[in-house]
Amino acid sequence: MKVIHARDNASPSEQRSSTFSGSVWADPVMPTTDGVTINTVFFAPGARTYWHTHEVGQVLSVTAGSGWVCLEGEEPQVIRTGDVVWIAPGERHWHGASDTSYMVHVAVSIGKTGWQEEVSDKDYLPQLASAEEASA
Ligand code: MN
Repeated sequence: MKVIHARDNASPSEQRSSTFSGSVWADPVMPTTDGVTINTVFFAPGARTYWHTHEVGQVLSVTAGSGWVCLEGEEPQVIRTGDVVWIAPGERHWHGASDTSYMVHVAVSIGKTGWQEEVSDKDYLPQLASAEEASA
């Protein structure tokens, strides 16, 4: 058993940029323990993860704002404060804020995360991309 106390105020939030687009800040909640990592992640409007998979799975618990989670081949789904998402092993997906709201979630990641490429604007906001094509 291990008790993990609340975040040390002296430890700074980490800005994430190599596997995220836009302004994303993460606070460690539980460092990787027996393959489980917990982070609180803040996404500014428009910010999102790169495409990725989780070796064993991931739980997202939205604690503020609203955003989207998207499985490859499907439309982005809206997630809001209080919503919980289970991402199964190996599902290729992304998650982040909406274009008009920030989003904060607690992410419980189990096993290794397989990071892939950036989520394009067209994949992030397909309705906006098709509107731009229509007006071009
Ligand atoms: Mn994920």
